[in-house]
Amino acid sequence: MMKGKRFFVKTFGCQMNVNDSEKMAGILTSAGYEKTENLKEADIVIVNTCSVRAKPDNKAYSFIGELKKLKKEKPELVIAVTGCVPQRDWKFILDRYPHVDIILGTFNFHKILDFIEALERPSVEILDTFLENEGEVVPSIEPLLTNPFVAYVTVQRGCNRFCTYCIVPYVRGRERSVPPENVVDEVKRLAEKGVKEVHLLGQNVDFYDYNGVRLPDLLYMVSQVEGIERVRFTTSHPAGFDISIIKAIKEIPKVCEYVHLPPQSGSNKILEKMNRGYTREEYIEKVLMLKEEVPSVALSGDFIVGFPGETVEDFEQTLSLVETCVFDQAFVFEYSPRPLTRAFSFEDDVPKKEKNRRLTELNNLLKRQAEERNLALLGSVQEILVEGLSPSNSEKMIGRTRNNKIVIVDRNDSLIGNLVNVEIEEATPFYMRGKVIKQLAGVERW
Ligand code: SAM
Ligand code: SF4
Repeated sequence: MMKGKRFFVKTFGCQMNVNDSEKMAGILTSAGYEKTENLKEADIVIVNTCSVRAKPDNKAYSFIGELKKLKKEKPELVIAVTGCVPQRDWKFILDRYPHVDIILGTFNFHKILDFIEALERPSVEILDTFLENEGEVVPSIEPLLTNPFVAYVTVQRGCNRFCTYCIVPYVRGRERSVPPENVVDEVKRLAEKGVKEVHLLGQNVDFYDYNGVRLPDLLYMVSQVEGIERVRFTTSHPAGFDISIIKAIKEIPKVCEYVHLPPQSGSNKILEKMNRGYTREEYIEKVLMLKEEVPSVALSGDFIVGFPGETVEDFEQTLSLVETCVFDQAFVFEYSPRPLTRAFSFEDDVPKKEKNRRLTELNNLLKRQAEERNLALLGSVQEILVEGLSPSNSEKMIGRTRNNKIVIVDRNDSLIGNLVNVEIEEATPFYMRGKVIKQLAGVERW
């Protein structure tokens, strides 16, 4: 028994991994363990990994490697590796990192307590990722929240789409939706704890389907939970995003005007090679429809540059899609070949230097657009949820608009966790500054 002991969690990757880590932390704290932010004083270290690109994968390995020294100094230290990397590479971890005690995958990370309390080491359990139609296998768990007012709620796991570059279907298995009543119960429990904003998470959340209950239905249900003021959902998929979702954003007051809809590329040739299931014309049409129906919406996306066979002309098609759609925020990645995927056998023929040039050019365009979109808000009144102190300046606080834009305001602790109206006084591509104004009834959203 290790009650009273301290654990440290290192998380790599997406919001879903953050949520899985919060769930593991929730399990351990309710069993009497204590979370620490100081690696040196930990009795247990959990490394929750991501393998979507080589970079986070390598970072996880180098972190696991560094733990060897700590284990030498403190042999009773328990080291657990969980998530996407061991789901694929558990044998490699077992062979090359003998200081690791526990290995769990993406289907069973919630068994962390049993494995910590088991006496036998090393202990490994990796479940088959191809559990066809098994339904959700992760039970409903109270997370230990990173932010007490904003919580992630995983509503769908896995993916069936097999984009040719993507490892997710291989390490997170088939797509499965969490029953809506479980989602609503989880949101109710979060609201009781003081959470104001929930983010419904799924790899392709637009395809959420539990016995005919679709994403718009789920958004209606979650919005009815008392105490919840804002609802977001991510990630949208351009093949699944449709008018029913646009209507839900438009008609449900609590659903925020923000859509993360990754195009990945603006070239039809590349989209087909990626197996994305839509054309650039379809993507643009959906975005224009969204902006027409919800003029205040903020658009976000992901792009991959340097995919095998991407010519300068293909890349220019991506730039032109961005010019047409106008993004508020976006993430650009250089193509990274991943084992198991179909594209792994394609020739990685765009030189690293050229990938980097395209990344910089696209990022510059996106930055200009983000700045223009934020500058357009100067002088407007925005509703923000004040999340807490600014990590870089304790005299300031940060909040987010309904469009998911960061706003910095002067410190006033009584505002933490509240929705307040702010007049925007300064705008940069990445954040804005504002002044809290008196709560006005029925403030118009820009
Ligand atoms: N399900 C989401 C979708 O379809 O857009 C994305 C999920 S993926 C975990 C997050 C992002 O990682 C993707 O949108 C893509 O831009 C990027 N990504 C995935 N595989 C990649 C690879 N092999 N190389 C570079 N970027 C990659
Ligand atoms: Fe990966 Fe494509 Fe599934 Fe997104 S839709 S998780 S990019 S396979």
